[in-house]
Amino acid sequence: GCVTRGIGAAAAGETTPYRVAGRPASSKDIVEVRSPYDGKLAGTTSNATAADIEDAVAAAATADRALPAHARAAALDHVSRRLAERAAEVAALVTAESGKPVKWAAAEVTRAVSTFRWAAEEARRDSGELQRLDTDPASTGRLALVRRAPRGPVLGITPFNFPLNLVAHKVAPAIAAGCPIIVKPAPATPLTALLLGELLAETGLPEGAWSVLPMTNATAAELVADPRLPVVSFTGSVPVGWSIRDRVPRKHVTLELGGNAAAVVCPDWTDLAGAARRIATFAMYQAGQSCISVQRVYAHRAVYAELADRVVAEVRALRTGDPTDPATDVGPLIDEAAAGRVQSWVQEAVAAGARILTGGERDGATMAPTVLAGAPDDCRVNADEVFGPVLTLAPVDDVDEAFARINASRFGLQAGVFTHDLRTAFRASADLDVGGVIVGDVPSYRADQLPYGGVKDSGTGREGVRAAMDDLTEARTLVLTGI
Ligand code: NAD
Repeated sequence: GCVTRGIGAAAAGETTPYRVAGRPASSKDIVEVRSPYDGKLAGTTSNATAADIEDAVAAAATADRALPAHARAAALDHVSRRLAERAAEVAALVTAESGKPVKWAAAEVTRAVSTFRWAAEEARRDSGELQRLDTDPASTGRLALVRRAPRGPVLGITPFNFPLNLVAHKVAPAIAAGCPIIVKPAPATPLTALLLGELLAETGLPEGAWSVLPMTNATAAELVADPRLPVVSFTGSVPVGWSIRDRVPRKHVTLELGGNAAAVVCPDWTDLAGAARRIATFAMYQAGQSCISVQRVYAHRAVYAELADRVVAEVRALRTGDPTDPATDVGPLIDEAAAGRVQSWVQEAVAAGARILTGGERDGATMAPTVLAGAPDDCRVNADEVFGPVLTLAPVDDVDEAFARINASRFGLQAGVFTHDLRTAFRASADLDVGGVIVGDVPSYRADQLPYGGVKDSGTGREGVRAAMDDLTEARTLVLTGI
């Protein structure tokens, strides 16, 4: 969490600098960052001044974009290597500021290492396309070169739940594609983004290529409208994301928003114990604060009772507590208000007829991993994004019913289908209104090089290194005549 305090709350010399076109800077608007678990100080930084934000935007607008591919790839490889070298320290910082259990923080660092490595590879591969035009008699003697040109400076706005890897997903493709980028990290988790800035500063990328600027939401909202930043790449909540898109309809806006992801368990699935373990783990990991954590399970009646018993047993076996303990599976939510909201949604479901199979209790910001049965579809635990450690279980008559209930959602990020049947797998991909279907696993699987994103309220555009580079660039054609 974060608390904004006046100067004097921390000695100015100890605050982590923000980065203006790579250069370290600080202001008097000190931000204390504390662990949501025990309020322990993770560190301090400061909100960027208006003058520094102006400098960053001006530098991005005039940055040298003609950097050769080898230099972009080398910079990205450097960050990847340095993240791997400092992995334990980076994971500890993610845990300190977000309360994410350190074993999941370590997994996030591993992913960010790979996100930067993929971006380095894609920077080398990025070569455009040659099109012969003589397939049409009128175009005999012509040839086209189609290359991807950077759309221009990007404003990247990121959420608290992956303080490193979601910043990596903004920065790495932007550098690979040749777009200057200004990152505005989440107020609760700016320190990890600033540590990444420290590594970027080692690369010698040209001035203006990147900035990392903590700021208030009001300042961020103003910056969204700045005409010198033609691209806004936002990862965060549904209402904020779509309000940004509505405010700047002429900009290129990418939205990676929330969801209420579901898993389907088909009667042919042979390993119910394995499915239950994956469902329990990825419903509760990061205390449910992942956009694709499992929120709903639709299990065929033939397997429902056994699956429910196994899921409840797996959830009860999870260790809840201190996120700095390597044995901890489930830590606190980002703050006590979030945990209180999640608990009230559980209580609302219970009042509407749901049964608590395990959990339901709360201790400050820590919500006990909770499994519900019989929650009506229109309860918020089913219909909205819980973003907490709450899972609902429901029996279904067949795959058709499961798919219909998934498609009834206003969200559509990913879905998981536990089946061995190839026909069901293809049907899921054809019929489910989501950005991705994971067969044989939970919806929470993501490989960082894959296109990733949602439909309906869950967003627009795709990330995943290659897809993000496509998104950050546009085709420019060159036609050669008389050859
Ligand atoms: P949030 O929307 O509250 O904040 C996200 C970012 O937007 C933060 O940096 C915040 O400071 C900034 N912001 C807030 N108001 C703003 C405004 N008016 N103008 C400009 N910027 C503003 O989201 P959060 O609570 O940090 O993150 C949780 C949400 O993010 C969940 O809904 C989750 O599903 C979603 N998410 C989506 C993905 C994805 O890839 N689809 C990944 C992770 C998280």
